Amino acid sequence: MTLTDQLTDVRGTPRRKVLISGASIAGPALAFWLNRHGYAVTVVEKAPTLRGGGYPIDVRGTALEVVRRMGILPRLRDAHIDLRRLTFLDADGGEVTSLHPHAVTGGVAGRDLEVRRGDLADALYAAVRDDVEFLFDDSVDTLDQTGHGVDVTFRGGGSRTFDLVFGADGMHSRTREMLFGPEERFHHYLGYCFAVFTMRNTFGLSHETVMWNSPGRAAALYAVGDDDEVHAFLNFARPEPPRDAFRDPRAQRELVAEVFADAGWEVPGMLAALREAEDLFFDGVGQIRMPRWSSGRVALVGDAAYAPSFLTGQGTSLALVGAYMLADRLADRDHVAGFAAYERDTREFVTLNQELVGQGGATLFPTTTQALKQRNDRLRGLGAMPPAEGKPAHTALTLPEPPRPA
Ligand SMILES: Cc1cc2nc3c(=O)[nH]c(=O)nc-3n(C[C@H](O)[C@H](O)[C@H](O)COP(=O)(O)OP(=O)(O)OC[C@H]3O[C@@H](n4cnc5c(N)ncnc54)[C@H](O)[C@@H]3O)c2cc1C
Repeated sequence: MTLTDQLTDVRGTPRRKVLISGASIAGPALAFWLNRHGYAVTVVEKAPTLRGGGYPIDVRGTALEVVRRMGILPRLRDAHIDLRRLTFLDADGGEVTSLHPHAVTGGVAGRDLEVRRGDLADALYAAVRDDVEFLFDDSVDTLDQTGHGVDVTFRGGGSRTFDLVFGADGMHSRTREMLFGPEERFHHYLGYCFAVFTMRNTFGLSHETVMWNSPGRAAALYAVGDDDEVHAFLNFARPEPPRDAFRDPRAQRELVAEVFADAGWEVPGMLAALREAEDLFFDGVGQIRMPRWSSGRVALVGDAAYAPSFLTGQGTSLALVGAYMLADRLADRDHVAGFAAYERDTREFVTLNQELVGQGGATLFPTTTQALKQRNDRLRGLGAMPPAEGKPAHTALTLPEPPRPA
């Protein structure tokens, strides 16, 4: 596509120019669909390149139809991790039960996908990079909405005017902060903190997760394949968010080491690996809940607008479905009507999936001895076979038809 093609549509009329902040899941998915609907799209990402690697994520229910319509479903099926076993251990390292992971997550074997986050980001990027302008290693510095558009200045220098701007910049979205104010207003802390990092797979684990629990603490090793690396995960209850630690990696390591100091099983080795880990990711477990997802000519999508937390396993699926719906509802409408339609037709799906937090993940991390015993009894009763049907919330939205090819 030439620059002229990018700026005009088939009838030679100027295409509406839009900017998307963030190139992970929601950003490239929105770029794909806005481009299909005739917009000239620029994506700005603060990282110097597409961020690869990362923990495994799920694509389920309605979101599977989004990736199928994008033409990337076969590639994602090839990248499917095919986790075969989820084993729970008690505080002494004894086995509580071993299940198919879908028996716990509500995923459907043979249909739902689990892929490395980086594999999905790669597939989305490959689907749009020839049709969309990407600016890496840069970010929005200021946004100024005027009657005719949004004047944007970039950190790297320069300024441009766009018809619309979208924040797909994740849970700690700067676009949201610039538009709606501090994160605390919208962040609902769920009472846990977690650390994830990679370490050497000296455990002989393959295509499986092993999770150790004591009241208020969980440690898991997650082997996505036969690689010599595993994803280590340490989750712990904390009634108040440790705000100082969020800004200080050294404080994060100290806090985790303190919380797990007397833990058994493989935890001492995990803490040793944590000290050396270069890819430590530490955060509070929380959801973003907002009364509105847009303001003027700027709208939010994905985690920036409605992060559901990893406890639901639905963050990626919400980002994909939200991106599709936002682009669809904007097509052939002005932004005021388009953003209103996006919210009207997507919010129920988002709410149902955010509400999964009460049913699923949180119950995996009980904070008392009694609750942990009840959880273990429940897990033993689940049986080894995955369910044939997913959770209703995963499919609670039917996508509108895709645009016809030009
Ligand atoms: C440990 C962990 C486990 C998870 N497990 C699951 C799971 O099992 N299943 C599941 O579905 N989901 C899971 N999630 C959630 C999932 O990763 C997110 O919900 C999903 O990635 C949302 O995508 P997004 O594009 O909205 O945001 P993000 O993936 O957070 O992407 C935001 C992007 O914006 C960029 N950015 C940030 N600020 C700026 C800025 N100022 N300017 C420009 N660019 C910026 C970032 O670099 C990033 O590329 C998990 C998350 C974590 C942290």
